[in-house]
Amino acid sequence: MLLAGVSVPAWSAVKIGMAIDDLRLERWQKDRDFFVAQAEKLGASVDVQSANGNEQTQIAQIENMISKGVNVLVIIPYNGEVLSNVIAEAKSEGIKVLAYDRLIKNADIDFYVSFDNEKVGEIQAEALLSKQPKGKYFLMGGSPVDNNAHMFRDGQMKVLKPAIDRGDITVVGDQWVDSWLAENALKIMENALTANHNQIDAVVASNDSTAGGAIQALQAQGLAGKVAISGQDADVAALKRIIAGTQTMTVYKPINKLATEAATVAVALGDDKAPESNATLNNGSKDVPSYLLDPIAVDNHNLQQTVVADGFVSQAALAQ
Ligand code: BGC
Repeated sequence: MLLAGVSVPAWSAVKIGMAIDDLRLERWQKDRDFFVAQAEKLGASVDVQSANGNEQTQIAQIENMISKGVNVLVIIPYNGEVLSNVIAEAKSEGIKVLAYDRLIKNADIDFYVSFDNEKVGEIQAEALLSKQPKGKYFLMGGSPVDNNAHMFRDGQMKVLKPAIDRGDITVVGDQWVDSWLAENALKIMENALTANHNQIDAVVASNDSTAGGAIQALQAQGLAGKVAISGQDADVAALKRIIAGTQTMTVYKPINKLATEAATVAVALGDDKAPESNATLNNGSKDVPSYLLDPIAVDNHNLQQTVVADGFVSQAALAQ
């Protein structure tokens, strides 16, 4: 009902549905908090749902957001290969779709915001090679249905291949960790140690949750700190392990920058504006305009100057 004398505002607030794969992992809680803060600052409202690592739950949550009439869907996919239909449904309703952090394959998405994920893999492998230039390497990939996990692996192999070809390093195993869960990584590492009679010199772990599981298995064999191991996300627990010397490095991705950029893009899409892009990625069905940020390698030498100086983690949290 229109009231006489009351003018309709020139803008209408954008309604965003944010479908997150799994809020059980520390990093995604940060993504949510920064994203919602920036979106609300821009006048948008955000409905956040977490699928807790379940493909069907995520599809149902997205369908629900479509029926509630959101203008923009921001999706961190659990499985980036199975969302084509639900996204086609959204597009037929005029809803814009932004893939957040992980690319969605074979679907008509409007935009992708992430870090340079191949570079993440490269800096993980570079750090391991400089600590452990020779020996037996165990590859521990992330969730096989996460496109990022494959991009990390591509980057890792780009750096490791010359050392493999020279015979400096040997790959003694290659496993992928379902849902990126520490408990799955722990079991994989236990089995790998048994199969290799504890003769493993480096573990190419793709993130901090899987590194944490693997390090628990190494610890049980008295090997923590003796085996080089990578990570990613600068989780507090991982930073503490780096300080304690049981994890070699992590990759710091300033989540506030990613989430702030993504919220700005989401609101622009909702307002029918074309967001600024700095890259294009093909998702199997189209060239997706993208905005990619730079990841940063963190080890015991630069931890203070990076994550602490940036306020990503406090000195107090590291001391606890
Ligand atoms: C993200 C990582 C994260 C992993 C597990 C990946 O897609 O890029 O930052 O550690 O998912 O949640």
